[in-house]
Amino acid sequence: MDKNDSAKAGRVSVRAPLCRNSKDSYLVTVSNFAELGLTERLLRALRDARYTDPTPIQRRAIPLLLDGMDLLGIAQTGTGKTAAFTLPLLQNLDEDGVKALPRGTRALILAPTRELALQISASIKDYGRHMRVRQAVVMGGVPQGRQIEALRRGVDILVATPGRLLDLVQQRRADLSHCEYLIVDEADRMFDMGFIRDVRKIVSMLPAERQTLLFSATMPAEVARLAGEILHQPQRVEIAAKTVAVERIEQRVHHLATAAKRDLLASLLKGPDLAKVIVFTRTKHGADNVVKRLDKGGVSAEALHGNKSQNARQRALENFRAGRARVLVATDIAARGLDVDDITHVINYELPHEPESYVHRIGRTARAGAGGVAISFCDSSERPQLRAIERLIKTSLKVIGDGPVGPEAPSVKKGRGGARRPGPGAGKRPRRFNRRAA
Ligand code: AMP
Repeated sequence: MDKNDSAKAGRVSVRAPLCRNSKDSYLVTVSNFAELGLTERLLRALRDARYTDPTPIQRRAIPLLLDGMDLLGIAQTGTGKTAAFTLPLLQNLDEDGVKALPRGTRALILAPTRELALQISASIKDYGRHMRVRQAVVMGGVPQGRQIEALRRGVDILVATPGRLLDLVQQRRADLSHCEYLIVDEADRMFDMGFIRDVRKIVSMLPAERQTLLFSATMPAEVARLAGEILHQPQRVEIAAKTVAVERIEQRVHHLATAAKRDLLASLLKGPDLAKVIVFTRTKHGADNVVKRLDKGGVSAEALHGNKSQNARQRALENFRAGRARVLVATDIAARGLDVDDITHVINYELPHEPESYVHRIGRTARAGAGGVAISFCDSSERPQLRAIERLIKTSLKVIGDGPVGPEAPSVKKGRGGARRPGPGAGKRPRRFNRRAA
């Protein structure tokens, strides 16, 4: 492909370093996956998945990762980040040609929730379908037996939630001492769920000689500290939430009394264009209540939250994915990392306390280039949250109906405001990993 062709096709230019020790860089112009340096077997899998163009995070991250760099990725679900780290990982593992030792893994991907772990595992299976990759998933909430068996001969990639992995390491069923690649996904959610200490413990079991990636949608101080500890001279790739959420999603808000929310939901769901809908509630109890009322009104709905068993959650998700349930009612944590295509509408039955969660929520719609609609219900006590959201996304939501009703509520605890920058401190360890250095 010559330069003129690229220019005609409106290609994007990224600066890619020549090698990890080099300060020099050259301009590469990429529009497709082949130009990012991916091998034919991965390209075939991408064609099978009908991906034509890399997403921005894929364009920027894949060349760096193929080059062996550490990476701090500030991006949320919906940006294509899973492929951004899985594709180069598969290629690097393939090129290394090293064999996993019994109970060992060559690469470890840590995820905060079981749902996310399963989704990452499904992506590895998809993208690695023309390669020989042994992978295992280790997560809580299900019996250990199969997981131990899957690890017995060693795997290329282990996807794990932190608690169960630590259990298995302590029982000597898993061995991380030869793991050369570490990916920590959704680090901010790890922090929210109280897993950061477990993550630190796990990292201390890995060799210092490794490639490390950390992804997080937001950068609270604790996550920035972790990034500083575990990454070595990382490249930073930031995909702004705004480009993910705001531009392609029609966002509306209804101001109403709390008691009017259930009727508004029922009336909205009379619209046939609300074909595949996620409703967000703040609590598990609230999610169950909404499902009950929808069921009574003849709307097929499933609840997804942490009080349900792993099997029940999988079943709920499958029913929703397959269209057997039109509505999925979820809490923020349970829905994190949720990867369901074609969601037409996201309804915020209650606004989240953290404005960043709003961006995560509405990111469930408008996946991979599609459009979508986000409808928020805002009672008078939630107006401070609405203001925090509008500040974060720098957009006012379109008010439907008559505008705010009822008296201004006394102020409610506000969200954190915006994403924060990580502090300094990266790169204390001497670097030893020099994949493909000239
Ligand atoms: P993620 O941000 O990794 O959760 O990915 C979001 C969704 O986008 C998933 O359903 C992927 O299958 C899809 N996806 C990822 N990369 C691409 C791409 N380059 N083209 C089209 N769809 C993609």
